[in-house]
Amino acid sequence: MPATPPPLTPGQRAALAAALEARQREVRAELAAKLRNQDDPRLVGLRNRMEDTDDWAAADAMAAQDITLVARDLAELAKVEAALARVADGSYGECAECGDPIPYARLAAYPAAPRCVGCQDRAEARERMRR
Ligand SMILES: [Zn+2]
Repeated sequence: MPATPPPLTPGQRAALAAALEARQREVRAELAAKLRNQDDPRLVGLRNRMEDTDDWAAADAMAAQDITLVARDLAELAKVEAALARVADGSYGECAECGDPIPYARLAAYPAAPRCVGCQDRAEARERMRR
């Protein structure tokens, strides 16, 4: 068994939160660019929500699974925003399954990571079983 990694320092946490916020802005800008000049009513509805409210990503990520143009961006935005919610509630940096600290190196490479490597591998194996 590998030793439990140390929890994030306040400086590491702040740097990762800043990276998440930057990525959130980038993905939103990409989405806004893709949604411009679209006349699919689902995309128009999505664009209106983006302009009117900050609280649209998670619900619409579900609703928009079939909108391939933006599905990937919506899925990433939902993960980034979920990570920012964990920053806000203080649980960021803990594995969602086993509760151990997620190593800083993993979060530096993938700031939205919700799980440690071991739990992520197991989650992906479960996902493959389901298909
Ligand atoms: Zn874990």
